[in-house]
Amino acid sequence: MILIPDFLFCRIWDIPIDFLRKNEIHGVILDIDNTLTFDHAPELPDRTAQWLEKIEQAGIKAAIVSNNREARVKPFAERCGLSYVADALKPKRVGFERSCAVLGERAENIAVIGDQLFTDILFGNRFGCTTILVEPMGPDLPWYVKAKRVLEKPFMPYIHRKKKYHAE
Ligand SMILES: [Mg+2]
Repeated sequence: MILIPDFLFCRIWDIPIDFLRKNEIHGVILDIDNTLTFDHAPELPDRTAQWLEKIEQAGIKAAIVSNNREARVKPFAERCGLSYVADALKPKRVGFERSCAVLGERAENIAVIGDQLFTDILFGNRFGCTTILVEPMGPDLPWYVKAKRVLEKPFMPYIHRKKKYHAE
């Protein structure tokens, strides 16, 4: 099912590095808003920063891929010290091609991590990546994200029933 993530975690920092290794993940595609930080927040939470550090130490490549504009994505990616794709048009193919070019990894070794079924999870599943859904870190700000949450709702009990949290 194209909207169902392979795995579900509460927060991005709950994803163990060993878990990524075991799933042969060599690169991660990261959403910003409500995944790495709160919606539209400029700051990088300490726990996210620590997780990104562990990713780097493990030799796993990481890139930020966001549908948000350059003005939002660039400063945040610089704060994280990561490459990025802005205006990525997830879940469209063009965004995936740009992401692969930045990451230099093949789909089977990439995990797409994000908080939205209709952008992040659909995007990753369409192109054969491993998909990891995290719970939104806080409230959604744009109206169109709020609208998409209504559409996500029918899928959530299924996802919660089928997919176990892997938090340690
Ligand atoms: Mg998001």
